[in-house]
Amino acid sequence: MANNDLYEVIIVGGGPAGLTAGLYCKRAALKTVLFEKGMPGGQIAISKDVENYPGVEGITGFDLAEKLLHHTQSFGLNVVSQEVTSVKTGPDTHSVELGNGDVLQAMALILAAGGTMRKLGVPGEAEYLGAGVSYCATCDGFFFKDKTVVVVGGGDTAVEESIYLSRLAKKVYLIHRRNTLRASNILQSRLNAEPGIEMIWNTIVTDIRGDGRTVNAVSLENTESGEKGELQTDGVFVLVGYSPNNKLIPPAVSTDEQGFVITDDMCRTNVPGLFAVGDLRRKFANQIVVAAADGCIAALAAAHYVQTRKSAVT
Ligand code: NAP
Repeated sequence: MANNDLYEVIIVGGGPAGLTAGLYCKRAALKTVLFEKGMPGGQIAISKDVENYPGVEGITGFDLAEKLLHHTQSFGLNVVSQEVTSVKTGPDTHSVELGNGDVLQAMALILAAGGTMRKLGVPGEAEYLGAGVSYCATCDGFFFKDKTVVVVGGGDTAVEESIYLSRLAKKVYLIHRRNTLRASNILQSRLNAEPGIEMIWNTIVTDIRGDGRTVNAVSLENTESGEKGELQTDGVFVLVGYSPNNKLIPPAVSTDEQGFVITDDMCRTNVPGLFAVGDLRRKFANQIVVAAADGCIAALAAAHYVQTRKSAVT
């Protein structure tokens, strides 16, 4: 790989969307490289069980990530472990700069950088990270065996992880800021069948407190009455959704008010040759199957774009 290499497609990010894009790009015989700064697989690599990827009944996130990587590489995709530090648009080609200083050009870029767990932004959250505060029950639940934990959130993740934690912890409090959950009905039914989980409705966590070493309590506020309170706990799992990893998105690319990239149904951004896929892109459902579908669509659209550009030149 050299600075003057021209790729037909460069993919930024190696989650399900990026890896699927790579698979389809290679099948379309496009000169392609994929850059991933961490572990290929993205968020699913740290997910416990994946139950809803069609055709695959019951698999751990880690195993599905490995399968995706292996499948993609079986078509010859070059998956490079490097951070992309900037993306620049150009009139003819677009470029990415890598952590090692290399700059590579491509006719098309597929941006698949995913998202990051949202923070509460309350006092104590950063201070007690890894000392009672966690964003991943599957990763850290074990440390709370027979202890009391608080889960914050009302979506699928918070409910799924509360159920997981209830098998380990002595007591789980699920704290939600409204009086109805956003989580799917099937997860809500499972939640209702768990005696070890107590719901605290219409409540926000305003402070995460501890003894300087680990968490021992949270301060609460009722969103309707304004009433304040405190709850003793050994841990706080913050599972309130995620934000797009959009720091690489060039200013010319249109995003919505939350920073998700706006695309059309071919995953094209408003900049020709720039595609966005997966959790980075504004859409209705953030699911693995949708991310994979995005990767497929963007790769086919990029193949069409590259072919059209080449035909125009010759
Ligand atoms: P989500 O659906 O965006 O839910 C985030 C939850 O956190 C919402 O209930 C929200 O409350 C609450 N919240 C947001 N900011 C908050 C704050 N500052 N303080 C307190 N609460 C806050 O996120 P998610 O649960 O991580 O799910 C993300 C996507 O992945 C969804 O599309 C979901 O369906 C999917 N997913 C699917 C599965 C599965 O199918 N097995 C598992 C996990 C995730 P409000 O409801 O009041 O907005």
